[in-house]
Amino acid sequence: MSAAMDMKELHWLLDIIHSIDVGVVVLDRQLNIKVWNAFMENHSGLPFDSVQDKPLLTLFPEIPADWFRRKLESVLALGNRAFTIWEQRPYLVRFRNYQPITGVEEHMFQNVSLIPLASATGTVEHVCVILYDVTDIATSKRQLEQANITLEKLSRTDMLTQLFNRGYWEECLAREFARHKRYHSEASLIMFDIDHFKKVNDTYGHQVGDKVIQLVAALLRKNLRTTDVGGRYGGEEFGAILPDTGLDGAQQLAERLREQAEALCFRAGEQEVRFTISLGIADLSQGCPTYKQWIEQADKALYDSKHAGRNRVSVFMPAA
Ligand code: GH3
Ligand code: MG
Ligand code: MG
Repeated sequence: MSAAMDMKELHWLLDIIHSIDVGVVVLDRQLNIKVWNAFMENHSGLPFDSVQDKPLLTLFPEIPADWFRRKLESVLALGNRAFTIWEQRPYLVRFRNYQPITGVEEHMFQNVSLIPLASATGTVEHVCVILYDVTDIATSKRQLEQANITLEKLSRTDMLTQLFNRGYWEECLAREFARHKRYHSEASLIMFDIDHFKKVNDTYGHQVGDKVIQLVAALLRKNLRTTDVGGRYGGEEFGAILPDTGLDGAQQLAERLREQAEALCFRAGEQEVRFTISLGIADLSQGCPTYKQWIEQADKALYDSKHAGRNRVSVFMPAA
């Protein structure tokens, strides 16, 4: 092949390197810039003249110097390629993200390849750094992850009260029950229900009924410890799982809830709305074979409260 042909091909190659939509940088052993293609010029705003023979790490202080030197040295010493992907390190050089559709991200996400460049004598004196703009992929993956987190939260939340819904709350109950079986930890369960709630709906309307349910949920939330788990079990029935809590502690909390509900009063138009709740407690010290039965025990105590006149707390007692 003639020397003229060689030169022509070299020009072609340079044209290609400048036109491709990836960043191409060649560094020498001292990390000085030797090649800087149009992608790098456009995204950094720095023309090749202004970066030529300058150290990359000084121009881009966001690159973790020790990490990058180690990576480069291993490429030079072993003659092997190296990669980093955006999930390990979002970018090598911080470029702004101008993409119109994925404009939610402030910076470009990059995958990076480091390729050893051998000279004619076979020694590796330079490394080619290739930057791939993977903002689209990263953005959609991150949005998908975010959407999944939101969906998961929605799937376990009761919309009216923002408490856990029955399905998720029962899962928590089953977990707490299993923990008790394994470690013999104390645990109590309070189930409670708004008294004569049908009358609230009938007298003041469904919206006021909803408001009462929300107030009871807020009252429950306010009184729970961070390790307790409150949930909306049904229409106007609630549950509170109390880990590491014996009967005394559960009774204190139940009584507090009862008193606070009784003391609540709000206006609906001209009228004052008041209501009470009935509660049932089952603690696990008496023995209970399954978590379903744990709920049944607390429910039974709750119905004892109803039958005894409502607005009170009852404790489940196993039949003698
Ligand atoms: P008790 O004292 O025996 O508990 O009587 P109650 O009237 O409260 O009990 P019952 O279970 O018969 O009635 C519950 C009512 O709650 C019936 C239902 O229409 C109403 N309800 C269930 N879910 C909702 C809701 O989300 N909003 C409203 N406003 N009402 C609801
Ligand atoms: Mg009720
Ligand atoms: Mg009910």
